Amino acid sequence: VALCEPEEAPPARSRPRVLEPRFNWTLFWQFLRPHLLVLGAAVVLALGAALVNVQIPLLLGQLVEIVAKYTRDHVGSFLKESRSLSTHLLLLYGLQGLLTFGYLVLLSRIGERMAVDLRRALFCNLLRQDIEFFDAKKTGQLVSRLTTDVQEFKSSFKLVISQGLRSCTQVAGCLVSLSMLSTRLTLLLMVATPALMGVGTLMGSALRKLSRQCQEQVARATGVADEALGNVRTVRAFAMEQREEERYGAELEGSRCKAEELGRGIALFQGLSNIAFNCMVLGTLFVGGSLVAGQQLTGGDLMSFLVASQTVQRSMANLSILFGQVVRGLSAGARVFEYMTLSPGIPLSGGCSLPRERLRGSIAFHNVSFSYPCRPGFPVLRDFSLTLPPGKIVALVGQSGGGKTTVASLLERFYDPTAGMVTLDGQDLRTLDPSWLRGQVIGFISQEPVLFGTTIMENIRFGKVDASDEEVYAAAREANAHEFIISFPEGYNTIVGEFRHGAPHGPGGPRGLGRGGAGTRSWPQGIPDRDCGLRGQRRLSGDRVHAGWFRHKPAAGKGA
Ligand code: ADP
Repeated sequence: VALCEPEEAPPARSRPRVLEPRFNWTLFWQFLRPHLLVLGAAVVLALGAALVNVQIPLLLGQLVEIVAKYTRDHVGSFLKESRSLSTHLLLLYGLQGLLTFGYLVLLSRIGERMAVDLRRALFCNLLRQDIEFFDAKKTGQLVSRLTTDVQEFKSSFKLVISQGLRSCTQVAGCLVSLSMLSTRLTLLLMVATPALMGVGTLMGSALRKLSRQCQEQVARATGVADEALGNVRTVRAFAMEQREEERYGAELEGSRCKAEELGRGIALFQGLSNIAFNCMVLGTLFVGGSLVAGQQLTGGDLMSFLVASQTVQRSMANLSILFGQVVRGLSAGARVFEYMTLSPGIPLSGGCSLPRERLRGSIAFHNVSFSYPCRPGFPVLRDFSLTLPPGKIVALVGQSGGGKTTVASLLERFYDPTAGMVTLDGQDLRTLDPSWLRGQVIGFISQEPVLFGTTIMENIRFGKVDASDEEVYAAAREANAHEFIISFPEGYNTIVGEFRHGAPHGPGGPRGLGRGGAGTRSWPQGIPDRDCGLRGQRRLSGDRVHAGWFRHKPAAGKGA
């Protein structure tokens, strides 16, 4: 039933549904290998706990036998006779608890460490992908692979080892004890339990389907709210509040209907399974009772049988839930591993670099043709040639969508040209080391500046991590940002970025909000707190952008 709760599963919206990748067992093995020893210990402890669980019903039966004897005869000392059995049981309970504690601790250790390794490896490989990869993928989907999918995979892994191993051992062990207690009762149980499980599984899968629909509907409603709140200025400007309320209301209504349907389904499932399990107990008591009456079974054995059969049923119910979890875990794992093995077309590093003293900074585009990989039939540049002489400021002017940013992207080697080539001092960019080119030669200032959630100081230092404070101040002065930065109470140590609250107001009031130049792009949503000092960063970047799309400054290296 837990699988049917809508809150349990991750939002459907973040799930790519098309073309599920295959699970990469080889890669999984590589991540598992460092933990094999601990895993072995966990498996041994889990098996131990399961075997102890199999023992418990048998001892309980023996205890009930003693109780029954004293109920009949009332001779001798009950305490004395039951003492050793009770002590044995207490020891087993203690051992069972200890083993459970042990394997859960070990599994959690393996799971958490593997999750960190997976996240680190995936993040590292994602960051290395081509820009064309990011053009085609939504950030939300990528982040969901790092978070939800790793989480789901980790939980499934832990569950399979803990519950799976335990349930299988318990089912096998208890079935052996059951058949030793009474073959007839065991046969009855083996017919009834799978039949009930079959019905339960069918109902369960129908409920899971309903639950998925429910999640999708909730995600649709969230999407509407997200869109309206994220674009509140547009909504306000067009006076569309009422329509957005209606859209959100309609989606909410849809999700209420689905959730209620799911609730009824879960209630039916719970009610029926309660009836089924109670009937199983009654049936066992009834058939077992007649065996006891015919002296074919003792009362204690019947008690053992009841407890052991409950263990079997619980374990089988666990296994059926686990099966769904395994399927989801494998597909989550497959999604995690998919991007771990992907290699980029343009590697981050590798290739030659020009010695600093020979670097002049002459850039040329030779008959470059280019279309974006995600729009192959749509040429953006056709037979384009351009020479940028060293030490000169060059501005590319043209209509929006004309390809100016594309030229800058080709120079940064975000993409390679479809035909022709771009050269730096006569060297084809494709032969040069991309990280040297980007890190040391080209200073790139985007028209859509982004702030990281740290201090202004660290944000300015982003392009040159070893820049001294003085260099940061100099860069800020050059961009006319120094004055307003120091006007904040915490100056350069003011925290900016997504998670900032209560930021100080910069000078200049709302004036600073605009880009102050021609251009169609709005400021990115990534910049928060529209009325606070962040606009300083906009001005800083804006000034640079107006000065030119990019500057190449071979001698100085990449500035702060
Ligand atoms: P400009 O900077 O001159 O406004 P761009 O270089 O941004 O022009 O865009 C040139 C053309 O390339 C436009 O038609 C634009 O839609 C398209 N384009 C820009 N970036 C991408 C991208 N990442 N993927 C696909 N097409 C793009």
